Amino acid sequence: MEIKKNGLLLLVRTSIVIVVVALGIWAEKEFIGRQNGSSSQIKQETESKKTQKEESKFPKQVIGVKGLSFSRISDREIQLYWSDQWNPYVQEYQIERCPAGTSDWESVGAVIPDQIQNSDVISWTDTWADTSQFQYEYRVNVKVSDSEKYDGQDGESILVSNLLICIDPGHYGGRNAVQTGIAYTEGDFTLQLAKKLAQKLQEEYGVSTILTRETADISLGGFTNYELDSAHISLRGEFAKGTDLFLSLHTNANQEGVNGYGTVEQPISINKPILILNKMACQDDKALGIANAVGKHLAQSSYQLGIASVEGFDKVKTETQIRNWTDAYNDQLNVWGTICRRMDLNEDYYGVLRGSVNVGVPGMIIEHGFHTVPEIRQMAEEGKLEECWAEADAIGIAEGYRLMSKAKTEER
Ligand SMILES: [Zn+2]
Repeated sequence: MEIKKNGLLLLVRTSIVIVVVALGIWAEKEFIGRQNGSSSQIKQETESKKTQKEESKFPKQVIGVKGLSFSRISDREIQLYWSDQWNPYVQEYQIERCPAGTSDWESVGAVIPDQIQNSDVISWTDTWADTSQFQYEYRVNVKVSDSEKYDGQDGESILVSNLLICIDPGHYGGRNAVQTGIAYTEGDFTLQLAKKLAQKLQEEYGVSTILTRETADISLGGFTNYELDSAHISLRGEFAKGTDLFLSLHTNANQEGVNGYGTVEQPISINKPILILNKMACQDDKALGIANAVGKHLAQSSYQLGIASVEGFDKVKTETQIRNWTDAYNDQLNVWGTICRRMDLNEDYYGVLRGSVNVGVPGMIIEHGFHTVPEIRQMAEEGKLEECWAEADAIGIAEGYRLMSKAKTEER
């Protein structure tokens, strides 16, 4: 897990450096351009009018911090990053935060650029009083070195929460392939879906994620691909240790030749989202809320895309209402999707779900829809499906956790 986290951090840092270099070149040109314009102008003007005209012709240069990002260190600590893009015009960077959805900005720290060694990227750590779930909005404002020349503006804000979600892109590259008619591979699609979801959670809600795999291949605890899809599958769920939620992303299939259609020639009326919860999630109000919201948004999304015959989703209020998963329900036409559990004696039937229980994390398998429906495979091939389903997942997760979205804060 450490290697993956470090890898992610390195990626974030590399991206920041690229942004910094680009901004640096731009800022340099901008500055030189203004200087040249200013000196040629001076020659044409009389001494008495000079100051007044310069003032009106060359307004103050606007300075504000853009491209702020963060990484989650722990459930009570985050690190903010931004490029030292306006050095030396900045005397001090001022860090502010407010609870998401409010405008109650408070100053929480300051950084003086001159004190920074190797100052391409500035980082600043915030530590919170406790570990309860929260979401803040952060921004970095600037105190300019010369207020006659520069106009310091509020920095662009980002949302930051202390939530950490483990996403498991189901199977591995090349696994569960349909070769009849429109080709499709579940193990390839789930990776694209997982990456989209991780990106949306981070950018729209400030939620951090770790993935059980970021490439076609998966490797955990000395095992790889097929071993982690069979005898050692519970390691995928155990990877969620220390996170708030485990999500295993899948697309569904049915029994052979069911409903009087070919196995992979099923009608869209078989399609519905099914969420299979582990025994911890079944007893966890927050996990139930997330599953209800994700299911609702997936059902709506598929209906609007024209790949489902029903728009509703059977929500579950309490553990006792949770349906036991069966093949008959899974394959039934024209029924709403819902939340299920699948037990084997007193344990979760699915190894991934047992794994997350082993490490004390509520978890669920999200069966987004049926890849045995040709129209769904077609839409996946066109690249439209992963965007819509990842959006439905992200909105559902945010609803379940009652998170504010970036779009909402920008309306303010
Ligand atoms: Zn699957």
